[in-house]
Amino acid sequence: MLQYPFDSVPEPGQVQEIVPGVLWLRMPLPLGLDHINLYLLEDHDGWWIIDTGIAIGPTHKLWEQIFDRHLGGKPVKAVVATHFHPDHTGMAGWLCEKWRVPFYMTRLEYLSGLSFSRMQREHYSWTSEQFLRRSGYSPQQLDTTRERFGGFGPYIEPMPMAYRRLVDGDALTINGNRWRVVVGGGHSPEHACLYCGALNILISGDQVIPKITPNVSVNGGEPEANPLKAWFNSHEHFLEALPADALVLPAHNAPFYGLHERLRFLIEHHEDHLLALEEACVTGSHTAMELLPVLFKRELDESQIELATGECISHLNYLHQRGQLERIVDEQGRYRYQSVDDTLSMRLRKHHHEAEIQPPLQV
Ligand SMILES: [Zn+2]
Repeated sequence: MLQYPFDSVPEPGQVQEIVPGVLWLRMPLPLGLDHINLYLLEDHDGWWIIDTGIAIGPTHKLWEQIFDRHLGGKPVKAVVATHFHPDHTGMAGWLCEKWRVPFYMTRLEYLSGLSFSRMQREHYSWTSEQFLRRSGYSPQQLDTTRERFGGFGPYIEPMPMAYRRLVDGDALTINGNRWRVVVGGGHSPEHACLYCGALNILISGDQVIPKITPNVSVNGGEPEANPLKAWFNSHEHFLEALPADALVLPAHNAPFYGLHERLRFLIEHHEDHLLALEEACVTGSHTAMELLPVLFKRELDESQIELATGECISHLNYLHQRGQLERIVDEQGRYRYQSVDDTLSMRLRKHHHEAEIQPPLQV
């Protein structure tokens, strides 16, 4: 069982102390998921901000409120983003501009953020269409997706034009404590977490969240990507590199104990998905779109279909690249997957389960 040591969550514009010098705050999100957790680390000469909130709604106003009431007269001295998604980087440009302070990120996340935030509708290309067609999108779905295509520019302030690079294994010294950078992958390309041994605290971003299963997705920009492999590797790395009893400060839900248990659950969760997909492809060949109900039991609306398809393809690419699924292109230009593994029925009997499968969330 995961343990949640805090009974309450910080109100908008308020902070909650985790330990002295480590503050938790929340910003609203206009998604199915209604909040992101951000953290403030106190240094002798100012505050470090970890993740920034999305640049729409009341976020600007709430930041001003935090500055007025909760910094104890110290300035902000640095901004860190764990990864490039807009709820994490949305306010980074504004914060760094306002305080004239450096911005910290891993290199791949910084470059991905620049790229996705500047993407426009006219960047929809034949490769974007081919990816969706191969996934099994209908002509009508292709039309609506083309209309909606674009990056997340509207949700973020222009990103800072310079950054300082975070590298796995490096450390930031904050108030005499070393916060080690621990990099994960799968949810985003080079996701930074920060671990402080002296406090035994891990700031985990979206890499480890207690209740939500982070989206692990393939998109048209890199159709043969294998993010699920990166995800499994990261989880193994985290199990080795981080203690089971660390207090985890995630970007969504609430701070918790039970890091190793959660990592193991997430590994099993995706292994269950892989097996369910292989099983579905024993009797015939299917497209990614046809396989969505195997992973997602509830009805998906249009905005969720894209993420769900991306997640489904991350599993299909993983199996295909391991030689467990065969992939052919049919007359309509769709990929169809079929199982080729003859040990499968035996493995299924051993492992049969009805795993509870969670819907994807855009985090
Ligand atoms: Zn994210």
